[in-house]
Amino acid sequence: MARDPRHDVLFEPVRLGPVTARNRFYQVPHCNGMGVQYPSAMAAMRGVKAEGGWAVICTEECDFHVTGDVSPAIEARLWSAKDVPILARMADAVHRHGSLAGCELVYGGAAGHNRQSREIPMAPSATPVFGPEPGQARAMDKEDIRNFRRWHRQAALRARDAGFDIVYVYAAHNLCLMQHFISRRYNRRTDEYGGSIENRTRLMREVIEDTKEAVGATMAVAVRFAVDELAGPDAITHDGDGAAVVELLAELPDLWDVNISEWDNDSQTARFAEEGYQEDFIGFVKSKTSKPVIGVGRYTSADRMVSLVNKGVLDMIGAARPSIADPFLPKKIEEGRIEDIRECIGCNICVSGDWMHMPMRCTQNPTKGEEWRRGWHPEKIEPKASDASVLIVGAGPAGLECARALGQRGYRVTLAEAATELGGHLNRVSGLPGLASWARVRDYRTGQIQTMSNVEVFLDSRLDAAQVREFGFDHVAIATGSAWRGDGVGRAHHNPIPGAEQAHVVTPDDVIAGVELEGPVVIYDDDDYFMASVLAEKLRGEGHEVIYLTPEVDVANWTHNTMEQSRIQARLLELGVDIHASRKLTSIGPDNVELACAYTGRTSALDAGSVVLVTMRLPDDALYRELMADDAALKAAGVASVTRIGDCLAPGLIAAAVYGGHKFARELDADLPSNDEVPFRREVMGLSNDWPVV
Ligand code: ADP
Ligand code: SF4
Repeated sequence: MARDPRHDVLFEPVRLGPVTARNRFYQVPHCNGMGVQYPSAMAAMRGVKAEGGWAVICTEECDFHVTGDVSPAIEARLWSAKDVPILARMADAVHRHGSLAGCELVYGGAAGHNRQSREIPMAPSATPVFGPEPGQARAMDKEDIRNFRRWHRQAALRARDAGFDIVYVYAAHNLCLMQHFISRRYNRRTDEYGGSIENRTRLMREVIEDTKEAVGATMAVAVRFAVDELAGPDAITHDGDGAAVVELLAELPDLWDVNISEWDNDSQTARFAEEGYQEDFIGFVKSKTSKPVIGVGRYTSADRMVSLVNKGVLDMIGAARPSIADPFLPKKIEEGRIEDIRECIGCNICVSGDWMHMPMRCTQNPTKGEEWRRGWHPEKIEPKASDASVLIVGAGPAGLECARALGQRGYRVTLAEAATELGGHLNRVSGLPGLASWARVRDYRTGQIQTMSNVEVFLDSRLDAAQVREFGFDHVAIATGSAWRGDGVGRAHHNPIPGAEQAHVVTPDDVIAGVELEGPVVIYDDDDYFMASVLAEKLRGEGHEVIYLTPEVDVANWTHNTMEQSRIQARLLELGVDIHASRKLTSIGPDNVELACAYTGRTSALDAGSVVLVTMRLPDDALYRELMADDAALKAAGVASVTRIGDCLAPGLIAAAVYGGHKFARELDADLPSNDEVPFRREVMGLSNDWPVV
């Protein structure tokens, strides 16, 4: 298919100082939970994005000195020449596909706790280290500043040795020293590095100059700068200090990569921000510099990207999440395959990997993090290894992805769905407040399946075991999903909650189906993810009085990992939801509930008209059990395997259901190792020769 000529502008090269990007697609630095700990996995993940057409591929944060150690976050590292080979592997992977590799040097300052090195962190002025941790950063003296500049310079040289084309001077996300010097919130110095904005920008200017002098002949020097900290007038603001910094340093770097701080503002979820949510803040930057400007905003629409370039907002389209969900987004635009783009849904499951110090996952892209480990490519898949036919029962995220991937392999696939539309629980969830974009998980897959002549879809087809056997498929994947349980059993309760059997006690499925509720509605959240809070929003929107109970210390506790928790809590408070945290629901009466303090056990009571229990889900595996109960009948029908996938096996994240469907498809007819073996590649740390110690 030919590219839409309106998109041509996106494929113009852009000069970045001494190097040239082949088009306008720029993967900005982003964490991935692999970095220094899973180096080949990280390198392969970056290389695949270069293959997918991103002209620039950057590292995650890369710490470069023991006094600026970002552990326990798993990031990149350039402490010494010893670290160079890991990053060289990434740069090689990127260069192999004709893209430029960028390295984001970071020095955490007060944002880092130096947990590995145990060195004392440094800051412009003495301040507690960030996060609730005992310990303070000390104020830097002139020698410290000289040291810091030298360390940064040495790190830039190491980045050059690793083969990078772009090196960053980083002042964003409130995660680094140079931002702390610029921000009045942290800089209370009275010397030439404090006071006026010129003074507070001095260190940044010096470091850009040092870096240019050290490596600028062959490498582009990028500045990543948070033009607004969204933290009030004392902080950096886009019409105050943010604008002044861009003006002061305008022509000094080779490119400006601009955003808003902190990370939870920069990477907002779809529940709280639309595509392009940073434009009001970063829009001014191009008016102050002639150097290329890069910005982000969860851009997945090619038309929107073109308009950003044409309107002079951005020169290059920055992306982290859109490049994670679809590493081949640029290629697909280039080839006029817009409908093949797997659009990011803005859920931040990717981000949760970094917070939990584990390799990144993605809801839309099940191959993310598996590129090297399992050899999964986001676009390519092994062709079928037999003429087997496969029946998939259930068309939620697991069934849809399974059908899509098996279809891509060339198998004969039949997808049977009881409902009258494809999508499974996505159809229900995406109708809840703020979650409309989650339907993209369904839409991408239904769009792909529609084009496959070897995938047949049957709607309004609830199958029983006899029907499954009758069709005589070689393999059956059961993707029949799950339902919320109604008795209160979950994390905090190992037995049903007394009173849960009453008619006014309902589940999220009932609420979404529109069951009549009496006020006040008590929502009990023992699930800790999104469901209870979106139901609270929905019910407040419908005018109900809503009481939110949770045994956790705050609402939707797990969403700290998606960087949504504080926004969710604020929204519920603004909506007038009555929040009772650290409370277990001990019993449900006809018109009230009894609670116990999660710490002391002290009891209290609240009026309740209806009670919504959001605790856990039960697999809908009746069909599976029915089939497995009659082995002889299965054999007689010629069915070689019956496998549960997705929520039917174990309810979990949508990302897990998609992954389960994909894994089944990848592994059909594959020559797999025994389950006594580790099923993927891994790297074991190289042991030092410096042993024994005595
Ligand atoms: P998952 O997240 O694992 O993909 P979902 O709950 O989203 O699971 O989707 C499961 C789908 O399976 C639902 O759309 C449901 O209608 C369908 N389903 C359940 N039982 C049957 C059955 N016996 N025959 C056909 N479809 C079924
Ligand atoms: Fe987008 Fe969610 Fe994938 Fe992250 S996990 S890239 S937010 S779809």
